[in-house]
Amino acid sequence: MLAGRLNVSTGKFAVEEVDEPHAGPGQVRIAVRAAGVCLSDVHLIQGMLKPLYLAGDSVTLGHETAGVIDEVGAGVTGLTVGERVLLQAGEFGGGTVLTRGVDYDGGWAQYAVSSAATVVPIPDTLSFEQACFIPDAVSTPWAAITTTAGVQAARAVGVWGVGGLGAHAVQLLRMVGAAPIIAVDPLPGARERALHFGADLALDPADPEFASLIGEATGGV
Ligand SMILES: [Zn+2]
Repeated sequence: MLAGRLNVSTGKFAVEEVDEPHAGPGQVRIAVRAAGVCLSDVHLIQGMLKPLYLAGDSVTLGHETAGVIDEVGAGVTGLTVGERVLLQAGEFGGGTVLTRGVDYDGGWAQYAVSSAATVVPIPDTLSFEQACFIPDAVSTPWAAITTTAGVQAARAVGVWGVGGLGAHAVQLLRMVGAAPIIAVDPLPGARERALHFGADLALDPADPEFASLIGEATGGV
């Protein structure tokens, strides 16, 4: 099969012919239908980011993956061939969190193998292209909002940077009931999109009135 692989020692990225993986015990194989490109992938290729737990020096990139199960390993229950799924961006292994497409082979390939516990079925109404980036661009801000920050309804929240993750953060904050939601980004296009997605206010961090505008919007908080 073809796979987009990075040699982290030489920094060389190439689409290569490699052996097809197969589902081992407790695993499934999916035929990949869509895979997202994260800025972390760019940083990996540029060498700004290094895998911490990769065995060897080459890895198939891609931690945002969706597809169809086409092989089910021994001992797997509740998942069937033909099911549409997305893959979580990583899993626990050896007492640490391993990232798919960084510490082990990911989804920039025709086939990807995943432990059954990190497979999430998706509804027919959700396209593979929309589903594939949920494991990163949606779940990351979701965890930041609900777990790390513990945001509650009516809490004022600022989102610094409303790109891929931030744009989703704004929508999730709307669901949680945060108010006001203040988007902060130097790019006018990103600020406009944030307002469209439900931000109450979108500010340029270089605006000389920035601090007073935030103070005004939050009653001085
Ligand atoms: Zn990512």
